[in-house]
Amino acid sequence: MRFDTVVRGGNVVTPRGTSVADVGISGEKIAAIGPDLEASPATKLIDATGHHVIPGVLDVHVHLELPFCGTVSADDYRTGTRAGARGGVTTLIDFAIPYANDSLAQAADNWMAKAEGKALIDYTFHICITRYNEHRDQIKGMVDRGFTTFKEFMIYESEGWQSDDRALFGTLEKMKEYGTMLLVHAESSRVLDELIARHHTPELMKQYGARLHRMTRPNFIESEAIQRVVTWSEVTGGQLYIVHMSTAEGTEIVKAAQKRGVPVLAETCAQYLVLDDSVFDRDDGHLFACCPQLKKPADSERLWQGLKGGEVSVISTDTCTFNRDQKAMWEGDWTKIPMGMPGLETLMPVTYTHGVLKNRISLDEMVMKLCTNPAKIMGLYPRKGAIEVGADADIAIFHPNTTMKVECATMETNADWSPFQGWDLAGFARTTLSRGEVIVDDYAVVGKEGRGQWLPRTSAGLKG
Ligand SMILES: [Zn+2]
Repeated sequence: MRFDTVVRGGNVVTPRGTSVADVGISGEKIAAIGPDLEASPATKLIDATGHHVIPGVLDVHVHLELPFCGTVSADDYRTGTRAGARGGVTTLIDFAIPYANDSLAQAADNWMAKAEGKALIDYTFHICITRYNEHRDQIKGMVDRGFTTFKEFMIYESEGWQSDDRALFGTLEKMKEYGTMLLVHAESSRVLDELIARHHTPELMKQYGARLHRMTRPNFIESEAIQRVVTWSEVTGGQLYIVHMSTAEGTEIVKAAQKRGVPVLAETCAQYLVLDDSVFDRDDGHLFACCPQLKKPADSERLWQGLKGGEVSVISTDTCTFNRDQKAMWEGDWTKIPMGMPGLETLMPVTYTHGVLKNRISLDEMVMKLCTNPAKIMGLYPRKGAIEVGADADIAIFHPNTTMKVECATMETNADWSPFQGWDLAGFARTTLSRGEVIVDDYAVVGKEGRGQWLPRTSAGLKG
């Protein structure tokens, strides 16, 4: 067999096991996996000796160039996808959120236009249903167009994004009917609004500053909402996926529901695994405001256990970058902090360093949570998510223990701060391949912007 590229002698993680092998690539696809694959003089050789070779990472929760909190998130499809590639990410899924009176189709068109000509890696979108009464009859058309995951928010009434129980229930019925999946941002809006209102006084803001962000978002704000939407999934049979789960209580609810056979899955994000709400005691604590909020070390511990136990299926980032100038818009009022943080570039390094190297999860388990599970759940498997013959040649190659210091000034993200600033992390990609093409070489981005492709889908969720 003739290969265009052979990745030589790395520790290759595949669904059939992990061992030292070569990976042969023909065109955009993986054509062979085995020892001593033959190379012709024309074959490009990539030496992976002493390195891990894993499938390209999928970050299935990203917000690039999103108008939010009175500003626009600072990583666009150019900087966001370059940042991803440097962290071994080869596929991302963003959220197409309708502006003003837009239809679902217009929302998809808007996000297609953002990615066009800029994306370095492959991408698609979850379609956000923000006005159920108008949007519900547009869902089927979006499925036919290749979108199989939808999203509803249980909060963000002022943004015009909120879905009530009627919308969640009705949408889950449709998910059941079409074999598609609903992603839900689960926080309890009425009680959250009440807690914010009670604390929104000049005296308390002066006294507590950004700490009010954690004080107004106790764990029950998330767990009550998860419990409620799990009920709607249970009675409709509609496939549900809890995004950015951050609490121990939520994890328990999901675990118990899965045991009963409820079709619910959950993701957490890297920041909930390695950061806690003590960051709000820092002078720059307001930078860490995100939604949902960082919780306690015990929550992080429970989420790690959930990854090990299986009730937490995916690790993503919820990347929504805001720079220091944008974060400064808060001027002492925590309700005005643009909520979100950069994450694409550090997803794999944080997970690898704090998960695998600290023996919380194995290398194979990391690949499951960052690559294979997200691909399967989001309807992109077997094209993405595994090193297998016939799959896209999306591959990340990294050294097991060479570390780099997180320094936002030298990173690809447009962020001028990092939640992990100064941390020493292993797991940055030495080489990243996307559909057979080297896009990161020797830790530097070399791929051309605009080469990324939109990925149509026909299914979603884990059945049975
Ligand atoms: Zn999000």
